[in-house]
Amino acid sequence: MWGGGNTSIKLTETDYRGRSVPVLCVKGSGSDLKLVERRDFPAVRLDDIQKLFEREDMTDDEIVSYLDHALLDPGAGRPSIETLLHGFLSPVVVIHTHADAVLSLSNNDRPRDSIAAVYGRDVVSIPYRRPGFRLAKDVAQALAATPDANAMILERHGTITWGATAREAYESVIRMITRAEDAIAGRRRGRKVFGASRVPALEPAARHALASAIAPRLRGRFSSHELWASAVA
Ligand SMILES: [Zn+2]
Repeated sequence: MWGGGNTSIKLTETDYRGRSVPVLCVKGSGSDLKLVERRDFPAVRLDDIQKLFEREDMTDDEIVSYLDHALLDPGAGRPSIETLLHGFLSPVVVIHTHADAVLSLSNNDRPRDSIAAVYGRDVVSIPYRRPGFRLAKDVAQALAATPDANAMILERHGTITWGATAREAYESVIRMITRAEDAIAGRRRGRKVFGASRVPALEPAARHALASAIAPRLRGRFSSHELWASAVA
């Protein structure tokens, strides 16, 4: 699992007038989970997010502009473009990852079969849709329709798990990924999956220098999710 994805927690914080305000603290756009810190979680007013559920659609630009106004601290960083996905779900803690093991179940020509073979009916599978407003609504409606689900898979995208506490949500995503890893290892047993490498890999320092030369301006300007989204678009 690389640094992509985003996490959130619903809390009550105090605004500039000393009022208690329910907020969604969600990972900011442009930071990676691998290196994230407390200050990378801007607080967004939860009632402002939930009000959007009534809408039919919004563009990414409209979401970004709206969320700018919904920040508890106007100077806070920009919240993730997947903020609505977190805010439309009721559990206190939501974790969204792009875990490789789970993606290998969904990034194929029959994701439903692969996912059902590993998770049965515990995990709800959401058909691919470009990340944005409609996907956030799909996810919330799917959970409302299947309240007993343990987790969700966004096909060709990633995982969604949740919990009443951060620990519970974390253990859920680890369980989910471990099940995928075990299933993959089971199918691989005794079989050669890939042939030998044809081109020897460069040393790490040379690889990093090459990557920086190819994409110097991307570093730090986009979160890995945005890079990922542009790669699949
Ligand atoms: Zn994502």
